[in-house]
Amino acid sequence: MKLNLRRRGINCDDKCPVCNNHKESTLHAIWECPKLKYARRLWLPRSKLCMVHFPNAIDLFYFYSNLLSIDELGIFCVTIWKVWGIRNEWVHKGKKGEVCEAVWWSRNYVDELHRARCKLSTDSRKNEGDRWRTTRARKAEN
Ligand SMILES: [Zn+2]
Repeated sequence: MKLNLRRRGINCDDKCPVCNNHKESTLHAIWECPKLKYARRLWLPRSKLCMVHFPNAIDLFYFYSNLLSIDELGIFCVTIWKVWGIRNEWVHKGKKGEVCEAVWWSRNYVDELHRARCKLSTDSRKNEGDRWRTTRARKAEN
């Protein structure tokens, strides 16, 4: 974060590279940036979107970890991770990404993860007879 770099004595512009209008803190980059306004509406259930001011990113996570279901929280965290990635592509490679795409990408990512877990679970149940056992356990079964 540019604000952190400035606190550490590195002389750089502390403005958010995405909106170019506010100082860039971690909280601003992943949540408060006005360029994320539309994305925030997409990534959280409307009834759970709270635009209260959080003092920092940890308080944001803590607030939503108590408010969201485990599935919603998964999408929330993956979306923030993707928003962060888009921001970094923008800052370090000059590649402007669309933050709204982070929401769709994250939902697909989490869905794919759930499907993989279900498949693993189903496959492991199918092969339970083939699982590794100690010699003593195999002898006891026979
Ligand atoms: Zn911004």
